[in-house]
Amino acid sequence: MNNLPSPPEMKQVEKLLLEAEHPVALTGAGVSVASGIPAFRGAQGLWDRYDPLEYASIQAFKADPVKVWGMLLELRQIIARAKPNPAHYALADLERMGRLKAVITQNVDNLHQEAGSGQVIEFHGNGSSLVCLDCGRSRPRDEVDFEVIPPRCGCGGLLKPGVVFFGEAIPQEACERALAAVERSDLMLVVGTSALVVPASLMPRLAARNGARVVEINPEPTGLTRGLAELSLLGQAEDILPVLAQGVRFGLSQRRR
Ligand code: NAD
Ligand code: ZN
Repeated sequence: MNNLPSPPEMKQVEKLLLEAEHPVALTGAGVSVASGIPAFRGAQGLWDRYDPLEYASIQAFKADPVKVWGMLLELRQIIARAKPNPAHYALADLERMGRLKAVITQNVDNLHQEAGSGQVIEFHGNGSSLVCLDCGRSRPRDEVDFEVIPPRCGCGGLLKPGVVFFGEAIPQEACERALAAVERSDLMLVVGTSALVVPASLMPRLAARNGARVVEINPEPTGLTRGLAELSLLGQAEDILPVLAQGVRFGLSQRRR
């Protein structure tokens, strides 16, 4: 499907991107749908079988780690096969053009980094390391033996991926970096997130309160669409972002003349 918003809407966002001093993006699972990783909401596949609320909370993990590790290993296989899509590449292009200062992502799939984005703030952590729930030690995923599920630390504690489960705090460094980026931002692109998961969903609100303009890119209206987002581009990130990046590139080349 390639349904783009109207040309005047696209032009307006291009102009905002060209003029902003400190544009940032907040991304969610929707950005990676075209890479084959299902989002929680509006989902198919994986999340039909695993209700995220039942499987992705720290309480559920502690209560039944074998059950939750079953879901995590399946998700890991999907992520391992996934490649960045044009949405990830367009965001990396915008950064290279100096037109995006940071990507705050709720995703744990590493696809922004694989596409070439340098300033990625992983708000919900990532799965490349595992952390012990008892002693807090963390170790690279590759060094962990998955023969026995759940994997355990030398101290006997349960190992959990370094991703943020429902009911857990945001990693401090990511939280601080995100807040600093949001405070400086005068434009925030909110892409592929239902904006329902707190506190990530507060970032656009904080940005707006600091005077930033908020632009949403999502095939469906969300809680931000009416009221907070100045502009809402209805459509898929992998269709819209490459066209915006191309427009911005052209705009920059015209400026240099
Ligand atoms: P979500 O599942 O709540 O919402 C996804 C949003 O993406 C929806 O609003 C949907 O309309 C939109 N969407 C679907 N296809 C799209 C497309 N092609 N282009 C643009 N938008 C599209 O996701 P969320 O808001 O990120 O919150 C869910 C939580 O789940 C996050 O914390 C995230 O960490 C986690 N999660 C991550 C991944 C991943 O790493 N890829 C995948 C699933 C869930
Ligand atoms: Zn331990």
